[in-house]
Amino acid sequence: MTKKRIFSGMQPSGNFHMGNYQVLSNWIKLQEEYDCIYSIVDWHALTSSYEDTGKLPERIENIALDWLSAGLDPEKSIVFVQSHVKEHAELHLLLSMMTPLSWLERVPTYKDKLQQLGEMGKEINTYGFLGYPELMTADIILYKADVVPVAEDQIPHLELTREIVRRFANLYKPIFPEPQAILSPLLPGIDGRKMSKSYGNEIPYAAEPEELQARVRLMITDPKRVKKTDAGDPEVCTVYTFHKIFSSQQEQSEIAGHCRNASIGCVECKKRLAEKMVTTLVDVHSRRKELAAKPEKIREILAYGAERARKVAAATMEEVRSVMNLG
Ligand code: SF4
Repeated sequence: MTKKRIFSGMQPSGNFHMGNYQVLSNWIKLQEEYDCIYSIVDWHALTSSYEDTGKLPERIENIALDWLSAGLDPEKSIVFVQSHVKEHAELHLLLSMMTPLSWLERVPTYKDKLQQLGEMGKEINTYGFLGYPELMTADIILYKADVVPVAEDQIPHLELTREIVRRFANLYKPIFPEPQAILSPLLPGIDGRKMSKSYGNEIPYAAEPEELQARVRLMITDPKRVKKTDAGDPEVCTVYTFHKIFSSQQEQSEIAGHCRNASIGCVECKKRLAEKMVTTLVDVHSRRKELAAKPEKIREILAYGAERARKVAAATMEEVRSVMNLG
């Protein structure tokens, strides 16, 4: 049976943190079950940071290192850099001809992010920034992906992708599947909000054990658990959300039970979590160091991925040009 295809991407923003690691861990699991295509979406990074591109090559290499050291397998999955496959730009351009402006303007994150970045002093009133979900649509449908792992706040983007697919089918021919979402859980920041460098609540992926322990100590817990003798609710606690990622099933149920009957204190609970995180990350960090010493190898892996991606993308674009009567 042919496997369903997944497409997903991450921007080389230079701020790889534990929230990204969580998304990545999910991708690594998915590569066992799906035909996965994962892209370092460098053009997306330009939609909000176009002024200074000097650090882009270094950031691309860094994120590739993060992915590969965590266990993304370039033989199982196609791993490549978006700008190495020019078909993304061609499809983006063609889709932009037929997408009503109002569809892009009503994406809920558009106005919020515009305001947020504007407050940070960024001049972001650009065509590229508005067209971000259009580029994302081109990325997904270029590979005829069936499934896209998304966080809850990205669901409107995927809905827009489906609308564009339907419009394309009505105008020309139905050559693209309507991609479905699989929800991927997101790790919160240490203050319980979405993890983001701009909130200062992130745990850097490259954090040394001492920094990691310090960040875990600062995590907010169940706000109603004031004294150690108060029973807690693990389901509202940031620390427990992390335990769900880093501790075994058995440890999770033990901690949840101890929390509910107040037989473990939050200090101890955080200490256990920090130990788990350090153990998990020590191996990943040491693989990353080994790989970082071989930049040639990283370039080879990305070139191999781009070659494989290009084959799929070129076939799709032939079809697109044909149904649109172009060349
Ligand atoms: Fe959270 Fe653990 Fe404290 Fe319970 S014991 S509130 S799970 S930190």
